[in-house]
This record gives sequence, C-alpha cells and structure tokens, in this order.
Amino acid sequence: DKTEISGRINFQNVSFTYPDTGIEAIKNVSFEIKEGQFVAIIGRTGSGKSTLANLIMRMYDVDKGDIKIDGTSLKSLNLQDYRNHIGFVPQEVFLFSDTIKNNISFGLDTTTTEQVETAAKNAAVYHNIIGFEHQFETMLGERGITLSGGQKQRVSIARALIKEPRILIFDDCLSAVDTRTEEEILNNLGRLMNGKTSILIAHRISTIKNADKILVLDNGEITEQGTHEEL
Ligand code: ATP
Repeated sequence: DKTEISGRINFQNVSFTYPDTGIEAIKNVSFEIKEGQFVAIIGRTGSGKSTLANLIMRMYDVDKGDIKIDGTSLKSLNLQDYRNHIGFVPQEVFLFSDTIKNNISFGLDTTTTEQVETAAKNAAVYHNIIGFEHQFETMLGERGITLSGGQKQRVSIARALIKEPRILIFDDCLSAVDTRTEEEILNNLGRLMNGKTSILIAHRISTIKNADKILVLDNGEITEQGTHEEL
C-alpha cells in the first residue's frame, strides 16, 4: 500500500534552469499551499507555469532551494510512491486507440468497474459514456468513435481522478475547450477537488475566482500572490 500524504506543498527559494537551453525558468520562488487548498497559477506564456507544475511532479530537480511535501524534502521521497498521489491533467489530452474504460484506467494495474464509473461521474463524463452503444467498452481512435473536445478533456480528468490522488494538477487544460465546456468543468471543479490539494494553471483570471490563493508568475518570478479580492 502507498504511504499517505496530506498534500502540503512548500517552495523555499526555488530556482531552476533547464540544463539543455540554459533558460532560468524559475527564479527564487517561495510559496506555501496548505493541505486541501485550491491554488491557481496565472501568468503570460513562457512565465514558468508549466515548469512549476513539472517541479512539483519532480520531473526535474531544483538547482537551488527546496520543495517540501508535508515538510519532507521532495528529493528524499520515493518517486514512484509520491507520483501515485498526484493526478495530472496535461495541457493536451492523450487518448489511445482503446476502450474508454482502458483510457480512464490507464497506468493502473487493477481497476474495478466501480472505480472507472466513479471517476467518470466525478469528471462529469459518465452520462456521455453511457449514451454510447458500447458504453465503457466503446473504442476510441482510428477504429472507434471521436469524442468532442470537452468529452476528451473530461476523460483525461477522469484518468487523473481514478487514482484518488491527494494532489491534483490541471495544466492549462481549459484553454483548449470552448467557453461552455470550460464552464461545465469549472462548475464541477468543487466536486473534483473535494478536499484535495489542487493546482490549476490558467490564462484567464475569471476562471479562478474561487481559488484560496492565486500566484502570479512573470518571467519565472512570483510577482503577486493573494486571493481574487486581494489582487
Ligand atoms: P505557456 O503558458 O505557454 O504554457 P508557461 O508559463 O507554462 O507557458 P513554461 O512552459 O514553464 O511557461 O516555460 C518557461 C520558460 O522555460 C520558457 O522560456 C520556455 O521556453 C522554457 N522551457 C519550457 N520547457 C522547456 C524545456 N523542456 N526545455 C527547455 N526550456 C524550456
């Protein structure tokens, strides 16, 4: 069984430079995300938002400073164990030529029908799926059906939720969908997050009104942080 984490995240004077390009993408960044909080990260293109998400997932090690999870340095945690606690919804959806069920349970060794259905319900895509002739056995891709942009996005969210992660990261996944779909997903956000530490990378400030904290990134630095009212 995986070790439990509560999902508190601390960045302490973190700097990071991409080794291949020499671009210093994160500069002396400090912030705290309390367990169960909803934090939004905004900032223009290239300001370092995705890099911040990558660092939280420990895709790279920081050059300076430290990232702590529940007070323990991320470097000293078992990586595989830790990543099991993170649900990541990438900017672009990756779907496979396989059934909807396998697309949702992707990456997990064993899943029950109930787990797949619960994840689909929480991601607000269950009713779409049961409307298809073959329901969760419906094939996607070349040999199957094509989902709408919003449906794809919600299957991708279901895939992140099925792990029942403590930490949920949405990397700008709403900018690719139309405003109606965005609204539909945002309306479900409370339910999706439900006590989890949640990080939403966004472009539009209007989408993140309910965040406990908003971090504004500019050129790798946090220039402002606070609630929607404070900023
Ligand atoms: P966007 O809104 O366009 O996704 P972002 O705020 O997420 O932008 P990042 O993708 O974190 O910004 O990029 C920050 C800086 O790091 C940019 O200058 C970018 O060119 C650079 N960068 C991003 N990814 C890599 C990488 N894999 N290798 C080298 N440099 C990178």
